Amino acid sequence: TEKLLEVQDLKKYFPIKGGILGRQVGQVKAINGVSFYINKGETLGLVGESGCGKSTTGRSLLRLIEPTEGTITFDGKEVTSLSGREMRKMRRDMQMVFQDPFASLNPRHTVERIIEEPMIVHKMGTSAERKKRVRELLEVVGLNSYHAKRYAHQFSGGQRQRIGIARALAVKPKLIIADEPVSALDVSIQSQVLNLLEDLQNEFNLTYLFIAHDLSVVKHISDRVGVMYLGQLVELTESDKLYANPKHPYTRALLSAVPIADPEFEQERIVLRGDVPSPSNPPKGCPFHTRCPEAMDICKSVNPAFREDDEGHYVACHLYDEDK
Ligand code: SF4
Ligand code: MG
Repeated sequence: TEKLLEVQDLKKYFPIKGGILGRQVGQVKAINGVSFYINKGETLGLVGESGCGKSTTGRSLLRLIEPTEGTITFDGKEVTSLSGREMRKMRRDMQMVFQDPFASLNPRHTVERIIEEPMIVHKMGTSAERKKRVRELLEVVGLNSYHAKRYAHQFSGGQRQRIGIARALAVKPKLIIADEPVSALDVSIQSQVLNLLEDLQNEFNLTYLFIAHDLSVVKHISDRVGVMYLGQLVELTESDKLYANPKHPYTRALLSAVPIADPEFEQERIVLRGDVPSPSNPPKGCPFHTRCPEAMDICKSVNPAFREDDEGHYVACHLYDEDK
């Protein structure tokens, strides 16, 4: 296996400005030292509650948000040091699919124009070639080529997401960053779109970063899953291992809320106390200690390192300290 993307110690701090002078009075640590990689052809799921930094992580990879610190290596190139021109070229290989296709698709544009646009931006083919490709792409995502002349608002949510996917595919990317692509859809439509994404992955050898707030959504599509809390990765491992043997108390709590089909299996719901602390004032020590049912003294002062506990199973928690 070959890595397509590697992220090391990524940080994004947003300044908080205040007072009549607009001076910086603090900072929001939206991403606070995140490291992971994605192999070619793999799907990495990234899960966490809203505000945990998962979308900021996705956008930072494309430098739609400029990271504060850290390195991003994509296809052998260091992304954070690329010039504007080089970065625009690289964005062809990394495409995003957003949660609300209506927000990212102009409703007054025809489907043809929406899907053709990235090809125009990246100067691909002649006009006739691009329009032919739009028709092919519509078929590829399960729509009809005659839909090309219609408007985005004439389609259902699931169909609009298919248009968004066709648009992302138009420039033949290597990596697709899908930011909650099915969160706004009905459950039955969700599985259709997830199946489509899996089929496309196999057909075009795509690599996915799949961002979601719900562990059940990423379960089947992901080869590995990472769980984020307050700007940090707290656990990451193969999908099967994570669901069968979650190590981090936060992952356990999230999983206890996911319904299980097996009626033999008794599951106790772990209810966390309190709310997620503000990322502008995160707790000292382990970011989860204010809510963790297993917190110990050390958790209040020392932020546990994110390290490999079993082969390929990474966790940031003092329960797995060697000398414990
Ligand atoms: Fe809980 Fe401590 Fe582990 Fe943090 S380090 S998750 S507070 S046990
Ligand atoms: Mg797969």
